[in-house]
Amino acid sequence: MKLTLLGTGTPVPSLKRMSSGYLLCTGDDVILFDHGPGAHHRLLEAEFSATDVTHAFISHLHFDHCADMIRLFLNRWDMGGDMVAPMKIFGPPGLQQFMDRQFGPEGAFAPDLTARIEHPMSQEMYESRGGTLPRPWPVTAVTELRESDVVEGDGWRLTLANVPHVQPYLTCYGFRFEATDGVFSYSGDSAPCKAMHELARDADVLVHICSRASVEDADPSKPADRTGHKELARLARDAGVKTLVVSHIQATLDREDIRERLIAEMGEIFEGTLIWGQDLVEIDIGEG
Ligand SMILES: [Zn+2]
Repeated sequence: MKLTLLGTGTPVPSLKRMSSGYLLCTGDDVILFDHGPGAHHRLLEAEFSATDVTHAFISHLHFDHCADMIRLFLNRWDMGGDMVAPMKIFGPPGLQQFMDRQFGPEGAFAPDLTARIEHPMSQEMYESRGGTLPRPWPVTAVTELRESDVVEGDGWRLTLANVPHVQPYLTCYGFRFEATDGVFSYSGDSAPCKAMHELARDADVLVHICSRASVEDADPSKPADRTGHKELARLARDAGVKTLVVSHIQATLDREDIRERLIAEMGEIFEGTLIWGQDLVEIDIGEG
C-alpha cells in the first residue's frame, strides 16, 4: 500500500503545509485520514479526485482535520451524482450532526443542493454526466465509531483508541490500520499516552503529530499535554516503529536550524527511519 501526505501543517494557514490530511491506497480502496483545509487541493495534486475516494476516517472535529470534508463531499456528489457508491465516512461522536448541519435537508447547503436537484439547468448538467432524474439528495449517513469498534475492509482492518487531546469537548481518536502488506498508524492530535503506544506497536509507518520542541525541565512524573519531539522519538522507539513520519508541523519548528537540531536529537533516541513530513511525499508501506 502507499501513503501520500496531503497536509502536514496545523490550523495556521500555510501554502507550504496544508492542514491535516493523509491518503492511503490499498487494493482498490482509496482511504483518507482527516481532510483539513487544503488537503483536498493536495488530493487533486496527487492526481486523485473526490469520486475516487472510498473511505474517510476523521480523527476529531477540530476544523484543521475536517473542514475540507465539505469540499470532498460536495465535489463528490456534484461530479459523481448517483453513479458512484456513497463514500464510507467514519469518525467520532458528533460527526453525523456535523454532516447533517451541512448537507441535511435543514443544513447550510440545503438551498444549494435543492437548486442543483430542481433547476432545469442543473438537471441538464447532471444528465450530461450520466445521471438519471429525479436526482436524489446526497446520502449523509456516517458511522460514528466507539473505541471498541473494528472496521474491516478488503484485506484490511482498522482499530482505534480515544487519545488525549481536547476532551471532554471533542472525542479524539488515533488509528491503527492493519493490511496484509503492512501496518500504518496515525495519531490524530494525540498527547503522549499508552493508547497511542499500542496503536503504533510494530507499525511499519507511524504518522504522528509533533506539537513542539520538548520542554527540558518538564516534570517527568506528570503526563505531558502535548507531544514534543523527544517524547515522540521515545514512543516510536518503545513501540518498535520502523518508519516515523513527523507531521502537524508548526512554522516555528520548521526553521532550518531548529528542524535540523530536532531531527538530530530524535535520531539519538529513535534508530528507525525518520521522515520530517512534507506535503505530497509518498511512502510505500510493505510490498503492495
Ligand atoms: Zn486537534
